[in-house]
Amino acid sequence: MLCVAPSSGAWKKVDGKWQAAAPPPPPSKSKFKDRSDINELIKLYGKPKQKKKKRELLLVEYVDKSFIKTYHSHVQMIEAIDEVAKNYPNLCKRYSIGRSYQGRELAVIQISATGSVNGVRPVLVPMIKYVANIHGDECVGRELLIALARYLTEQYGKDEEITQILDTTDIHLMPSVNPDGYYHQTRHNKNDVDLNRNFPGWRDLGKSRNELLQEREKESSAVIKWVLDNPFVLSLSFHDGYVLVNYPWDDGPGKDIFILYILCPADAEEGELAACPDHNVFQKLSRLYADNHAYMWSGKCLCHSETFERGISNGAQWYVVDNGMQDFNYLFSNCLELTVELSCWKRPLAQVLDTEWDNNVDSLIVLLKSVHSGVKGIVLDQDGEGQPGAQARTQ
Ligand SMILES: [Zn+2]
Repeated sequence: MLCVAPSSGAWKKVDGKWQAAAPPPPPSKSKFKDRSDINELIKLYGKPKQKKKKRELLLVEYVDKSFIKTYHSHVQMIEAIDEVAKNYPNLCKRYSIGRSYQGRELAVIQISATGSVNGVRPVLVPMIKYVANIHGDECVGRELLIALARYLTEQYGKDEEITQILDTTDIHLMPSVNPDGYYHQTRHNKNDVDLNRNFPGWRDLGKSRNELLQEREKESSAVIKWVLDNPFVLSLSFHDGYVLVNYPWDDGPGKDIFILYILCPADAEEGELAACPDHNVFQKLSRLYADNHAYMWSGKCLCHSETFERGISNGAQWYVVDNGMQDFNYLFSNCLELTVELSCWKRPLAQVLDTEWDNNVDSLIVLLKSVHSGVKGIVLDQDGEGQPGAQARTQ
């Protein structure tokens, strides 16, 4: 056995055995004995440099946008929605409003922290819906809505604004009204019908629910029931091919005309303003979207020489659409729907989808907040009981 005697005085031999002596004094924090030594050194070498304070780290907002770098197939879209619902079960759920002509699910993701995803919607919580891809070959909105579902849930509890929106709002996102058209890359559904010309219009006013649903496509029929059965207050429908927002009427009553001595509502004149009773509200909402978009507010887009003042247009003033979804929402429910044209290219390269996200995210968020403008409340009688069928009247 090799024993090595310590060289310092910390050890001592007692009765022939090495024992530890008293512990050595703790090392001085300063290598200098006293202040006068330090002053000597300062004279020789100058004042030591002060250590720089650590700079406070700047909080950099980082949002992972890798999820909006690709187009989702129908199956991938359902999987993406399900993943969000699985990760945030208290904030969202997927539900279906029906199936397409070829049997694809018409999926919706509901997002809210109000408890409405558990089946009970608290009173005075407004419902808003965003729908996309009613024209199957117009694809940007579809990807924006999938991304929006992830963004809203991931930012809940982190971003104050998003948290407040989810705490007070019932949001329904439907990325694809026309999944068959998306699959086949056609505007129409698989039955070769333009779904955005397949909704009840002026001539259907006064008809029963069953009559309204007669001879409709499966996709439009599902949306009609969804709108009639739920008190949505605001809706955005996303298209591509231009960059602007348009608002009702797409096909107004125009000037009533007499045909064989019967008064008939005529179609709106193309190029003429077809103002609805809430014209000013529609204009404000449309401007809200365009003003918060990266460049929509300028009224110009790369693919068309026309200029739209402040990036918005009345529907019929742009071109007349018979039996469109936008007018249906306004005519047959309480829901105000805007049509948002997102991109000159109906299916731009996947690499630019994140740019489209950047262009639109502020508008998407600010429109969610807009449902809290205006007046809301509950009409009660003298005994504090709710009054069904109460109507608002402005003076
Ligand atoms: Zn379209």
